[in-house]
Amino acid sequence: MADIIECQRCPGMAAPIGTNRRGTIYRCGRTRSHVFTVEGAAVPSAHARTEDPETSHEAAASVTGITEKQQAVWLLLGEPRTDPDLAVEYMRRHREQPDTFPKQSMSGLRTRRSELVDAGKVHFTGEYLNTPSGRRAMLWQRTQI
Ligand SMILES: [Zn+2]
Repeated sequence: MADIIECQRCPGMAAPIGTNRRGTIYRCGRTRSHVFTVEGAAVPSAHARTEDPETSHEAAASVTGITEKQQAVWLLLGEPRTDPDLAVEYMRRHREQPDTFPKQSMSGLRTRRSELVDAGKVHFTGEYLNTPSGRRAMLWQRTQI
């Protein structure tokens, strides 16, 4: 299991959130848009992830000019996620908070994410995660506004 390390872009500390073929992907705990890969670092298990309660942060967050379903997707992209990760997390949140996370299909979630990219509210981090099936999946994250 990889450890907490210093962020490459600020004095904060970064925790592993997954792996890609180059090494381990880290996210800064201080500035969430700081996502970077450490090449050749010890690769944690594919499902290793840091639990990072940001519910209150999400509840306070909002963005204008998008639909309710887009907003629900946007909320979950405060941390980098692949489309499959997004779908799993969204289904969990939908069960717990259906008012905030209205029912959406997996293809619908992907479409909402794509629309948010087009609107400049979400961006590709430049990093990929390996899925359990060995495919590369792009990591998306909401854009700081
Ligand atoms: Zn940082």
